[in-house]
Amino acid sequence: MIPYEDARRIVMDTVTARPAQPRTARVAIHEALGRVLAEDVFSDRDYPPFDRSTRDGYAVRSADLTNLPRVLEVMDEIKAGSVFTGNVLPGVCVQIMTGAAVPPGCDAVVMLEHVERSGTQVKFTRPLEPGQNVVPRGSESKAGERMLPAWTRLGYAEIAVLGQVGCTEFDVACPPRVAILSTGDEVVEMNQTPGPFQIRNSNTGSLAAQVELAGGEPVPLPNAPDEPQRLRELIERGLQEDALVLSGGVSAGKYDLVETVLRELGAEFFFDAVAIRPGKPAVFGWCRGKPVFGLPGNPVSTMVTFELFVVPALDLLSGAAPRPLPLLRARIAHDLSEKPGFTHFVPGNLYWAGGEPVVAQLPWQGSGDIATLRKGNCFVVTPASRLTAAAGDWVDVLPRRGLL
Ligand code: AMP
Ligand code: MG
Repeated sequence: MIPYEDARRIVMDTVTARPAQPRTARVAIHEALGRVLAEDVFSDRDYPPFDRSTRDGYAVRSADLTNLPRVLEVMDEIKAGSVFTGNVLPGVCVQIMTGAAVPPGCDAVVMLEHVERSGTQVKFTRPLEPGQNVVPRGSESKAGERMLPAWTRLGYAEIAVLGQVGCTEFDVACPPRVAILSTGDEVVEMNQTPGPFQIRNSNTGSLAAQVELAGGEPVPLPNAPDEPQRLRELIERGLQEDALVLSGGVSAGKYDLVETVLRELGAEFFFDAVAIRPGKPAVFGWCRGKPVFGLPGNPVSTMVTFELFVVPALDLLSGAAPRPLPLLRARIAHDLSEKPGFTHFVPGNLYWAGGEPVVAQLPWQGSGDIATLRKGNCFVVTPASRLTAAAGDWVDVLPRRGLL
């Protein structure tokens, strides 16, 4: 049994050591959110492209305003987008709008709110700094500068940069295709009526959702019974995709066949037990050139182990850097004490109270209890190294991806 941090490191090192060049496709900017850029993108010109005013006010020569108060004559006005060709002489100023080009000769903008205007005259009373309220040309980026390196994941800020430089069509990595294979004789498909001692397959649905949230393309397979022949067929089918994620069949029970069948297919294993609750029997291996994750079948275990171990692998398979685990900190609302030997991930609710983030564990029935998980927005993470906390202590919080 290894700590989950080591298990994540093993996943990342193993995938990195066996690089598969992602397939790429050309997309339009409006289809690109969350995708991974597959080319460098350069700035087409300086940004800002001119000395830009950040305020509505008056463009001035700061040397004119060393002795205050001082009255200057307003010579003209400059709107955002308009071209101003005049020459601003000493003793005059120009009315200017936010986003407009500061005219030659002027080196500062004084906010509208800080002057008194009467007719064509403006009275300045406040001291000013040269350069105030002006963003100089090229100070954000220079023409020809690499704005986005290849293998950047595209969030809304990256989309804005692409739009700014006029890059409306570009190459991105195709999302890694992830085969999802739930196992278990007790499991029937979602659209079937379970027998008295059967349950519907919720893991394929939640895993497909997690694959999508992580930037992959889910490829759901039919549920595999706890029978080696059919399980083997479906695993072989799954190994045709970029990665295979199984749920169930990885514990020590007589009908937990996943590791055995994978081994028969030539799999190499890197871990098969992690010191976490829920999720201890999680398995990671490599089979026929593909990463394989055997996640425990209890739904909350499946979800936690996907977040911890599969997400960084999907990042790497997309060509991107693995995202760090998005842990937050909050004050725990109550005392807590967990069993030794494990890092615990207990469903919780994160909220703000008294100006601080506060988190409360939800009383739950263990790793099958998705009804309770649904009522929270995060997991309270209690590390094996510090198993107790008193109300008000700071604790780690893992947000539920897509919700917080
Ligand atoms: P296992 O890891 O195979 O021992 O499965 C543990 C438990 O997880 C089973 O007893 C089921 O209650 C539950 N389970 C397994 N597979 C699924 C699934 N696909 N959807 C929902 N629950 C499942
Ligand atoms: Mg099972």
